[in-house]
Amino acid sequence: MKDLEVFEIIKKEAARQENNIELIASENYVSSDVLDAVGSILTNKYAEGYPHRRYYGGCEFVDEVEELAKDRAKKLFNVKYVNVQPHSGSQANMAAYRALLNKGDKVLAMALEHGGHLTHGHKLSFSGQDYEFRYYQVNEETGMIDYDEVARITLEFRPKLIVAGASAYARAIDFRRFRQIADSVSAYLMVDMAHIAGLVAAGLHQNPVDYADIVTSTTHKTLRGPRGGLILTNNYEIYKNVNSALFPGIQGGPLMHVIAGKAVCFGEALQPSFKEYAARIIKNASVLASELSKRGYTVVTGGTDNHLLMVDMYSSCKMTGKDAEVLLDSVGITVNKNTVPFDTLPPMVASGIRMGTAAITTRGFNEDDMVEVARLIDEAIKNKDNLEELDRIHQDVLKLTKKYPLDKVMKR
Ligand SMILES: *Cc1c(COP(=O)(O)O)cnc(C)c1O
Repeated sequence: MKDLEVFEIIKKEAARQENNIELIASENYVSSDVLDAVGSILTNKYAEGYPHRRYYGGCEFVDEVEELAKDRAKKLFNVKYVNVQPHSGSQANMAAYRALLNKGDKVLAMALEHGGHLTHGHKLSFSGQDYEFRYYQVNEETGMIDYDEVARITLEFRPKLIVAGASAYARAIDFRRFRQIADSVSAYLMVDMAHIAGLVAAGLHQNPVDYADIVTSTTHKTLRGPRGGLILTNNYEIYKNVNSALFPGIQGGPLMHVIAGKAVCFGEALQPSFKEYAARIIKNASVLASELSKRGYTVVTGGTDNHLLMVDMYSSCKMTGKDAEVLLDSVGITVNKNTVPFDTLPPMVASGIRMGTAAITTRGFNEDDMVEVARLIDEAIKNKDNLEELDRIHQDVLKLTKKYPLDKVMKR
């Protein structure tokens, strides 16, 4: 007997995903193979420990699937050691910090309001509570990371660890430069590539494993896998520390169904078609950025090198990020409000919105469609008080999403 209360809700969410233009930069649509793995009976299995060193019997098949996931991840990122067990990106970061640091150690990371992540030292996160963080900002004129400034703060602060990587930064990050800066004070370098992992996998962004002591990631953003985390390193000692920091340090039994989903995701990302997909993500983001610029919107940093862009709505049209998020949602376009660098509004209001093209590119949206998406966003903003116009715009959104049914793209 089906639990109608739950499955009716899932049905509504499925319709929302089908009908809306999904521009949340951290989201994507998984394949039906990933979904089948994550929805499989592997969820029944306890497997505390690591392959061939488990605390439970009956692990011969889950060992096989975890080994497969690890082998594929190693190949995909060209790295020696991987841990595929983190339940999430945040837990991957916690394990990475614990592998390298003691409580109270000094860490330098990107400020949250400038594109960093909560786990990069925010005071409400374990990271900001357990370690002494200091932050670097982007340059006020360019909106980009000012590497000379990072180098200057590093010499002054002398951190034990530098964190590179971001949640809301539209430009390529120079990990090689970060390595040089870390070396200037013999600090560790950790790269959190949660957002750009898919672009790295496709060879379209500098690979951080060549420069960082530890690389952490999520698997569900541009990498297009199940919700989860991942840790990579080329250093055996660090690998050992990561393993024990994660289990038994902070997690219990691994989510074997999710690890199977990760194995499927890595297999998909190893296909030549994934490279083409990643290239289309970047192209689509750049078209969206330039179309919005043409229509008078302030794109932070003036454009994008990756899958996302930040638009300063407040300076463009005196609308807050919060109001833009609600307005666009009303016509079926999903974005999130986001502070822009040097924002004067608080985070729950924010001056900007963040948009990404990973999900809609999976769906099949092409460059012409991006021109149309920019038009729909602009028209919604211009007609914010005209319900009739907004309804017409919503109809156009539905026309566009109907062109690309989700069940088709899930078969890959
Ligand atoms: C998304 C993200 C994370 C955390 O991922 P969760 O799975 O939500 O915990 C960590 N770091 C960065 C840079 C991210 O963008």
